[in-house]
Amino acid sequence: MTIKTVDFMYSAASEKQFLSDGRLQIVVAGKSNSGKSSFINLLSGRKAARVSNTPGRTRLINYFDINRGQFVLTDLPGYGYAEAPKTEQAQWGSLVEAYFDGPSKKFVILITDIRRLPSEDDKTLISYLYAKNIPFCIVANKSDKQSRLKNTKCVMGIAAALRVGRDDILTVSCLTGAGRDEVLNRLRPMVFSDGDKLE
Ligand code: GDP
Repeated sequence: MTIKTVDFMYSAASEKQFLSDGRLQIVVAGKSNSGKSSFINLLSGRKAARVSNTPGRTRLINYFDINRGQFVLTDLPGYGYAEAPKTEQAQWGSLVEAYFDGPSKKFVILITDIRRLPSEDDKTLISYLYAKNIPFCIVANKSDKQSRLKNTKCVMGIAAALRVGRDDILTVSCLTGAGRDEVLNRLRPMVFSDGDKLE
C-alpha cells in the first residue's frame, strides 16, 4: 500500500461537524508529545501535521483525505496534559467519546512513547475500544532513543500493562522512519476490505 497524497480536509470542534461519508477512518490517538503529529508526517512522507502543535489545534479533530478519496486519516486531540484544567479534560472526553460512538468505520492507532509505560488514559482508551469492538493497534514510537534489546523489553511491558498481545504492538521511529512499512502492512487489509481499488 502506498500513500500518495495527504490533503488536510478540516477540523471538527463538535459532534455536528464530525465527518461521516462512509469511508474508513484510520484514527491516530495518543498522549500529547507521544509523537502523533510526527507519525502522521511519517505516514504521509511529508509535513501534513504540525509537530509539537500549538494548543489551538489540539482540542480539535483533524481530518486528512488519503489518496484522493481512498480513506480518511483522523487525528484526535492528544490527551494527558498534566496542566490542562479539569473542564478541558472533560471536554476532551466527551468529544472523543461522541466520536467513537459515531457511525463511521474505524481502525485506531494508539501512539505511545516506547520508553514509557502506558498512562491511565491509554488504558482507558484501550478498554473503551474493546468495549466498542473497534479494532486497533499500538505504535510504540521513538525506538531510536534506546537499544533494540531495551525496545523488546519495553514492548513486553506495554503489552502487559494494556493487556494486549505482543503482535498488537508495532515499533517505529518517526525520526529515522524505522517500522513505517510494518505499519502500512498492518493497515493494508483494513483498507482493502473497504472494497477499493488498491495496490
Ligand atoms: P504530539 O504532541 O503527539 O503530536 O507529538 P509531536 O509529533 O509533536 O512530537 C513530540 C516531540 O517528540 C517532538 O519534539 C518530536 O520531534 C519528538 N519525536 C517524535 N517522534 C520521535 C521519534 O521517533 N524519535 C525521536 N527521537 N523524537 C521524536
